Amino acid sequence: MARIAFERLAHGYPGSSAYALKPMDMVWENAGAYALLGPSGCGKTTLLNIVSGLLRPREGRVLFDGHDVTALPTERRNVAQVFQFPVVYDTMTVRENLAFPLRNRGVPAAQARMRVEHVAGLLGLAGMLDRRARNLGADDKQKISLGRGLVRDDVAAILFDEPLTVIDPHLKWELRSRLKELHRQVPVTMIYVTHDQTEALTFADRVVVMSEGEVVQVGTPEALFERPAHSFVGHFIGSPGMNFLPCAVEGDAALLPGGHRISLPRAYGPLTGKVELGIRPEFAALAQEGLPVTLRRIEDLGRRRIARVELQGVPFAATLPEGMVVPAEPRLALDPARLHVYADGRLVEGRG
Ligand code: ATP
Repeated sequence: MARIAFERLAHGYPGSSAYALKPMDMVWENAGAYALLGPSGCGKTTLLNIVSGLLRPREGRVLFDGHDVTALPTERRNVAQVFQFPVVYDTMTVRENLAFPLRNRGVPAAQARMRVEHVAGLLGLAGMLDRRARNLGADDKQKISLGRGLVRDDVAAILFDEPLTVIDPHLKWELRSRLKELHRQVPVTMIYVTHDQTEALTFADRVVVMSEGEVVQVGTPEALFERPAHSFVGHFIGSPGMNFLPCAVEGDAALLPGGHRISLPRAYGPLTGKVELGIRPEFAALAQEGLPVTLRRIEDLGRRRIARVELQGVPFAATLPEGMVVPAEPRLALDPARLHVYADGRLVEGRG
């Protein structure tokens, strides 16, 4: 188990002057469950490969429990890795596959047997320990891969790179919740790379959201929902994502498109750049009173309905309260406590 720290870490690939990973300082606490979340090309794999030692960063240092490992190869970092595609020895049984990392390290047979059976139980593999891996489906093979990552109790960290990619959609939810349970039972530092917000939010205690080579927020799933530090996080997390309205802010009031003035829960000093008001669709509702809007369409998401409206031409998603008949002249009511101010995409802390 290890606390992993990054000091002024940055990376660019040879032949490119651009940063694939922009300079950052960050700490991942010992035994934490972290997800690296972001769209394709944002730098997740680059960061993961720097942690595993597959890639040497161009700038900065990586520390495991205070020791500089920046120059150490993967085999000297004591990390376990689970990739998108299962890595399994087909001719071995499930038991032999799971025991492999332990046998390699000379763990006594009785102890290895106990660990293998424990991990097999956690993953739902207990009933097939003596079957050959060859005949198993992709789901069970990936469970074996996960198991081989989890079976050692001496690893600094376990790194998962999109491990559910090849798993059948209807089995994904099962493995997702099992992984969370596993982290509770095997408190090792775990880092889980994904572009899927559901996977990240289910698994992680802390989600590291990345965009264009930059870590834009590290936070609990609640924090990413309640207080996105960056408009990218507001858009990327949630379905639909956060609404952003261009506005001017004067003290504790915001001037919205169409000249509507609304009160804010906090007061702000002078702001520069592009100023926006952010609010999630969950905290904005169609109502009899409020800001006049034009209704474009209603989306039925099963458990809730979303009204797509426009406020002076700016598209906006709001909740249609249960049982509400769409008013002839719809209005938009915003929960003032849930309004956030952003300047050039960054959350601005107000006063009071
Ligand atoms: P994906 O989910 O598609 O794997 P990612 O978030 O993991 O994306 P990275 O693979 O880390 O992103 O890529 C970050 C940036 O670095 C991208 O612009 C990518 O094109 C570039 N990049 C990645 N690997 C290399 C490489 N070997 N050589 C040059 N550029 C690279």
